Amino acid sequence: IDFGSGPSSKEMLGRATWIFLHTLAAQFPQNPTRQQRRDVKELMAILSRLYPCKECADHFKEVLKANPVEADSGAELAQWMCRVHNIVNRSLGKPTFPCQRVDARWGALDCDEGACNLQGRMH
Ligand code: FAD
Repeated sequence: IDFGSGPSSKEMLGRATWIFLHTLAAQFPQNPTRQQRRDVKELMAILSRLYPCKECADHFKEVLKANPVEADSGAELAQWMCRVHNIVNRSLGKPTFPCQRVDARWGALDCDEGACNLQGRMH
C-alpha cells in the first residue's frame, strides 16, 4: 500500500491501524498493571465506536463481543490481536496469519535502547 498524500482509503486506514495495534501489543508489558489492562480494553471499545469506517467499526464491535480482550500479559494480548485480525482477514477473504510468528513479525520496535517501551528506557 502506498500511503500517498491524499485522503486515506479504507485499506490505508486499516493497514495503519493494524500496524499501530500489533506494535502496541508487542510492546505491552508482560506484567501489566490493572490500569494498563483496563486501558487496552477501553481503547478497543473506543475503536469499535469511533473507527472512521462505519462498516468496519460495526463489524469490529461484533468481533469484540464474541472475543473479549485478553490482556493479562503482553504475550496474551499479542495472540489475541492476531486472532481478531485473522477473523477480519477471513471475513475479507484474505489469508490468515500464523499466530506463532507474531513475535517475529511485530516483536522488535525499531527504536533506540527501549526508548519507546511503555515502561520507559531500559537501564
Ligand atoms: P492488513 O490486514 O492491514 O495487515 C497489515 C499487515 O499485518 C499484513 O501485511 C501482515 O504482515 C500483518 N498481518 C496480517 N494478519 C495478521 C494477523 N492476524 N496478526 C498479525 N499480523 C498480521 N476492511 C474492510 O474492507 N471491511 C471491514 O469490515 C474492515 N474491518 C476492519 C476492522 C479493524 C479494527 C481494522 C483495523 C481494519 C479493518 N478493515 C476492514 C481493514 C482491513 O483489515 C485491512 O487493513 C485492509 O484491507 C488492508 O489490508 P492489507 O492486505 O494491507 O493488510
